Amino acid sequence: MEAIQKKHIKTQFPILDQEVHGKALIYFDNAATSQKPKRVIDAITRYYTEYNSNIHRGAHYLANKATEEYEQARERIANYIGASTQEVNFVRGTTEAVNLVANAWGNLNIHEGDEILVSGLEHHSNMVPWQMLAERSGAKIIIIPVLEDGSLDQAAFKNLLSAQTKLLAVNHVSNALGTINPVKEMISAAHEVGAKVFIDGAQAIPHLSIDVKDLDADFYAFSGHKAYGPTGIGILYGKEELLLAMKPYHGGGEMIKEVRYDGFTVNALPYKFEAGTPNICGAIALGEAIAFMEDVGIDKIAQIEADLLAYATEKISAIDGVKIYGTAADKASVLSFLVEGVHPFDLGILLDKQGVAIRTGHHCCQPLMGHFDIEGTCRASFAVYNTKEEIDLFIKALERALMML
Ligand code: PMP
Repeated sequence: MEAIQKKHIKTQFPILDQEVHGKALIYFDNAATSQKPKRVIDAITRYYTEYNSNIHRGAHYLANKATEEYEQARERIANYIGASTQEVNFVRGTTEAVNLVANAWGNLNIHEGDEILVSGLEHHSNMVPWQMLAERSGAKIIIIPVLEDGSLDQAAFKNLLSAQTKLLAVNHVSNALGTINPVKEMISAAHEVGAKVFIDGAQAIPHLSIDVKDLDADFYAFSGHKAYGPTGIGILYGKEELLLAMKPYHGGGEMIKEVRYDGFTVNALPYKFEAGTPNICGAIALGEAIAFMEDVGIDKIAQIEADLLAYATEKISAIDGVKIYGTAADKASVLSFLVEGVHPFDLGILLDKQGVAIRTGHHCCQPLMGHFDIEGTCRASFAVYNTKEEIDLFIKALERALMML
């Protein structure tokens, strides 16, 4: 029964039914971007074939239909993460969300001498915008150290918190190592010293149940494309009182209530942060991706992926010379590894020739790679449609590649 259900999930992803280099495709690059189920692709086709139109203030049927679908998607996503629709802003993705907060909140609230705590696990997109903010404000970036197993040093984190701490930036799940960070506890500790918290949920949204109110996150961001949705669309959640107190990020249409030659007044939330024509189709398709996850069930998704990760970890550990990076007890879907004496890129190429797609390199986490004194890793990352049979084939392909190298 379980096997039939799993097969059914995989058949919903048309792209997976193909061969590359004459071999059945095994897609293990889900942390970079997930594949899209047919219902998401259909939603995109439907939008452009049936009701493509610019949203809001439309006097005609298509504009009203597009507006309705766009706002319904916002409502679905808001419900899914436990937020109100005012607090859910459509953005291009996680990267834009970090830049938005670093500018629209950071410019008002971060001053010379303030401290921004950034975890040592961060993706460049949750590091560089804070570095840029520190550069223009005179604030200081302080890094939360990473332990050998790829978890954050929680004792060091608590010691770093002080009255100077104004912001904590941390990912919920590490894209490079798969570590699930105890963000609820970290948020609570940061709040005790009066700091605000930005959570990068890019790798959490496809794998974990998210309730922003339960976490008490001040900001929570994710990208649609890592959670079965399209590229170019993502979400920035912010607490309403924080969003209200922020200045707009981009100026233009939609974010204004009224414009005069001598100035403008700002529109209500969430339009305040959605200047210009948004990615209407992307937002609607992201709503459909969330509906897909709701239909499968996030607990079931998490269970399937946890089984795959445990199975792959066990199998790969039996291969001579393999070292796994990221061995924390709490992990999601990512298997990062190196094989002694083998360059990750060479391995990636030889796996690709056998139909297996993995990612190699620094995974946009150069400082973290530096911490481990490596240039990069090989990363296999799993999604709900992957199977143990694929892992068996991956292990065989890996052994074959290692014999060739
Ligand atoms: N944070 C994490 C943890 C990520 O994995 C990624 C994407 N690899 C990002 C941020 C950036 O996301 P995007 O490129 O979709 O803006």
